[in-house]
Amino acid sequence: MLGRRSNLEQECIITREKASALVVDVKALAARPGTMETLRRALPAPEDFGNALIGAPAGSDITADLRLESVHDGILVSGTASVTAHGECSRCLDPLEVPVTADIQELYVLDPEPAADEEDEQHAVEDDAIDLEPVLRDAVITQLPFQPVCREDCPGLCSVCGARLEEDPEHHHDVVDPRWSALSGLLGTEDAANETTTTREER
Ligand SMILES: [Zn+2]
Ligand SMILES: [Zn+2]
Repeated sequence: MLGRRSNLEQECIITREKASALVVDVKALAARPGTMETLRRALPAPEDFGNALIGAPAGSDITADLRLESVHDGILVSGTASVTAHGECSRCLDPLEVPVTADIQELYVLDPEPAADEEDEQHAVEDDAIDLEPVLRDAVITQLPFQPVCREDCPGLCSVCGARLEEDPEHHHDVVDPRWSALSGLLGTEDAANETTTTREER
């Protein structure tokens, strides 16, 4: 039983260490309701800080400009967080960068009530500290485009061969009757079979 408990404690410490860069100590602030602190600095972006196509690379700057106010029931965090998201155009796959600034407004409560339902997520002051990561994720990642484009009229790639249509506006393919393409496929297979036979005979 004792052994189990110490395992659990170890796990908690490891979790805190991982998140430490985005965990802010608010012990002094929480002790003085009515006071505030500012947090203006670059925080390192955690892993997977984005969606499938675009996001802030891990370790890149999240520029935080935040006010931390000590209110009677917790710490109110407000301000902005900015990142330069890197990704690729969803049409032509060119790399692109998108600057994103998100508004932050979140109360970390000192004595969280048991959650009424799971959707009603409540952030809490834990061990005299607040973890900015979930709040930054919610605020910034929801601002990222789901289908980023290098420019609104990007023509993208040819759906047949993948050529860049921007460089070749006349680009097209003669439409091949699917029956012919099936036949040429068959011929191709026969040729390949013949070649194999020939090779074998040569040996
Ligand atoms: Zn593009
Ligand atoms: Zn093409």
